[in-house]
Amino acid sequence: MSAYQSFIGLEIHIQLLTKTKIFCGCRSAFGDEPNTNVCPVCMGYPGVLPALNKEAIAKAYLVARALDCSLAAAAVFERKNYFYPDLPKNYQISQFASPVGRNGRIALELSGKVKRVRIHDVHLEEDAGKMIHAGDVSLLDYNRTGTPLLEIVTEPDLELGEEAEQFLQHFRRLVRYLGVCDGNMEEGSMRCDANVSVNLAGKGLGSKVEIKNLNSSRFVKKALTYEIARHTELLEAGGKVLQETRLWNENRDLTEGMRSKEQADDYRYFPEPDLPPFTADPSFLAEVEGALVELPAARRARMARDYSLSDAQLDFITEEKERADFYERTVALGADPLTTASWLGSDVKKLLNREGLELAKSPLTPERLAELLVLLGENRIHGKIAKQALEVLFAEDKDPAQIIREQGWERIDDAGDVAGFVDAAITANPQAAAAIRGGDPKAIGFLVGQVMKTSSGRADPQLVHQLLRERLQSRVTEDSDANASD
Ligand SMILES: [Zn+2]
Repeated sequence: MSAYQSFIGLEIHIQLLTKTKIFCGCRSAFGDEPNTNVCPVCMGYPGVLPALNKEAIAKAYLVARALDCSLAAAAVFERKNYFYPDLPKNYQISQFASPVGRNGRIALELSGKVKRVRIHDVHLEEDAGKMIHAGDVSLLDYNRTGTPLLEIVTEPDLELGEEAEQFLQHFRRLVRYLGVCDGNMEEGSMRCDANVSVNLAGKGLGSKVEIKNLNSSRFVKKALTYEIARHTELLEAGGKVLQETRLWNENRDLTEGMRSKEQADDYRYFPEPDLPPFTADPSFLAEVEGALVELPAARRARMARDYSLSDAQLDFITEEKERADFYERTVALGADPLTTASWLGSDVKKLLNREGLELAKSPLTPERLAELLVLLGENRIHGKIAKQALEVLFAEDKDPAQIIREQGWERIDDAGDVAGFVDAAITANPQAAAAIRGGDPKAIGFLVGQVMKTSSGRADPQLVHQLLRERLQSRVTEDSDANASD
């Protein structure tokens, strides 16, 4: 065991998915024409008054609730004073003394062990604008100014870069399940700063370094791994770690010093005089409770009990709430749980990728998938036909039963009809027929294959076997022609 111990805490910012900004009626959206979603309130003109967006505060409480925080009876907004060109008011409305949630926890499985990470607090604030540096000039886009931002601060309960990466992935899944954030780190709707310290084991926290500019969970892992190694090396050589803020340089794969850590009181927090504290009354709290959904870890555990799926299937299905909902709805409509899981993970996934579609926006619905898989389960269509029907479903946006009817793909199980195909196959392949009469098990597989081909996969394979054996009086036993089954 290493003589050193590392401590990692994360500060995660998520942009809440609300229609409008937090204190004004401007549209909150990514990718619009710069400076089109602005008004005197979010531009900080004198004399304007902010008004709290109910949707934003409800989503903030929902996250705090999902993280098992104690919820503030009255959430207070404060001004955090600083000057930066992306913040036209010269202060940010945030929370300090009385945030929406405190003392929460999140449990997740890390390398097979349950790890509990304490949540220090969850607070709501307004986002700043975006600065775009272009050569000698810097451009400002204020569309993001005043969009609701939720900051989740963890205690330093993580130890390794890998753990921080997995924590972030888990957290992203959680906020997507709750429908409060899209978790898109590339577009900046989820951002992360990390703090890390290293000390001799048992000696508590060391000098804390904050790392900013981490816009993917992979960078979080790389930057923390780099930083822990840097601290350990410094300490082993008898040196001291400087308490500072560093930036991750993704091009050089290292962190670089940025500025010495500011103290919190530099910001001169004081209560926002234009916004009364938000009181979370019983009806508001009941709404929050009503919006709570079964969270990813709990859902995975329950689904592991309800359906006998492999770990990989469970991971895949519970990765997105929409997919888990789709799966459970399909099964509830009568499709076999295992077949549904394997179709979602293979054929359906392949088609979605090929068409560049999301499940929710595709022509496939749980009703349609269930219909198709029930037809397959009842042996009314052949496996290959079912796959073809899925292709047609994607191309023509029709119900499986209709497709099968229109294409004439129903299984042929009338003995007379199948006999026609069997006799034709025997006539066309005299050598194979002779081999079967002589007891060659491979030849029967070949003839079954020929019948399936000429009947476009529609002849009932068991009936084909039976008729072939009857006609050729084969000495081939049942189990020796298993290779011919569908
Ligand atoms: Zn505005």
